[in-house]
Amino acid sequence: MLITIHRGSHEIGGTCIQVSTANCSILLDLGRALRRDSIDPDLEKIKVDAVLVSHPHMDHYGLIDVLDKSVPVYIGELSRKLIDTAPLFLGRKPYDNNFHTYKSWKPFSIGDFTITPYLVDHSATDAHAFLIEAVGKRIFYSGDFRAHGRKRICFDRIVANPPRDLDLLFLEGTLIERSNDKYPTEESVEQKIYETIKDQQYITFIISSAQNIDRLVSAYKACHKAKKTLVLDFYAAWVLELAKKVSRGIRAMDWNYIRVYANHGQDQTLKKNEHIFEDFRQRIYQNFRVKPAEIRACPEKYVEFARISQSPAIASFKKNGRVNLIYSQWEGYLKYSDKDYLGAEAMAAFRKDPNVNFICAHTSGHATLCDLKTFTQALNPGRLIPVHTEHAHRFREHFENVLELKDGVDLTV
Ligand SMILES: [Zn+2]
Repeated sequence: MLITIHRGSHEIGGTCIQVSTANCSILLDLGRALRRDSIDPDLEKIKVDAVLVSHPHMDHYGLIDVLDKSVPVYIGELSRKLIDTAPLFLGRKPYDNNFHTYKSWKPFSIGDFTITPYLVDHSATDAHAFLIEAVGKRIFYSGDFRAHGRKRICFDRIVANPPRDLDLLFLEGTLIERSNDKYPTEESVEQKIYETIKDQQYITFIISSAQNIDRLVSAYKACHKAKKTLVLDFYAAWVLELAKKVSRGIRAMDWNYIRVYANHGQDQTLKKNEHIFEDFRQRIYQNFRVKPAEIRACPEKYVEFARISQSPAIASFKKNGRVNLIYSQWEGYLKYSDKDYLGAEAMAAFRKDPNVNFICAHTSGHATLCDLKTFTQALNPGRLIPVHTEHAHRFREHFENVLELKDGVDLTV
């Protein structure tokens, strides 16, 4: 088996790993880079029979739009639905790749390869690691994972019953040099949201990604306990609608405690694509819509789940008084410019604003060093190659059999 990391051995995001036999070649993820100076893999030169997408984060699938459209792209069912509709809300064309879907725990074949997707706990829903078997070799790709979210049972399950006799483990190491101690679990974030909103005198905004379903659940549970109404935009509501169909825990999130506000652009997206969204728009309008005037009349009753780019809406509320702002994603984004991340500059300014009660409450989507060690001990691989990390050189201090492979260098297993 031949291995080449085209990108991702020494950076976070933009992952692209090629695994080949004499007859067949696959890519593990095909992500867009998070770093601006990162060079995309040359897809003209990389000939593959299929691409496996571990989870629906852009830094793992974002380059499929420049892939030859005849190449099959294997992705989880819910992930497929999410990436089908996300571009529509951004006014972009949907992906027209040759998609195939896989199911958690159900092995499938691509040429010489047998692939088993392992469901993992991550800040994206429907996230998977892969066991890849071919020509008598067994390798495991961790994808992005953690052990402190609402699906931590997935981590426990793999550790209790790990794949055996692994020749190689590709292990993500996002947090190898970062701490997650301030909010070590998703429940600790939920508790902070609850404490902030329970006696609130004014509206609270929670800034996070709508695709972070665990965070949506935390916001919902905190609102439910504090008897506040959670307000979503149409995109977050649609993500929830999809997730509710497949996940038992999320089904318990009752629409009756949620309200949806319609912005013009999103409303047009739903109208134009009724063949995809069916009666979703009408259902929301008839039963669950909230008008801005209603929120302005009693802002203390509402908690709005928003994205970093929605800072103008937050500023308009601030004109009437104070707001709570729970910043619930990686703090590093606050140092970015708007060019790198739209809304980052306004968000950083809110932090210094005396009329904004600015609170950071976030737990990482990635495994802590302690959990990476537990995971690796259980899998006991012949070799460990760090990926999705800026500190591959630190792995040797914590793990055995580490091989620091550079981007573009071939390895025969
Ligand atoms: Zn991810």
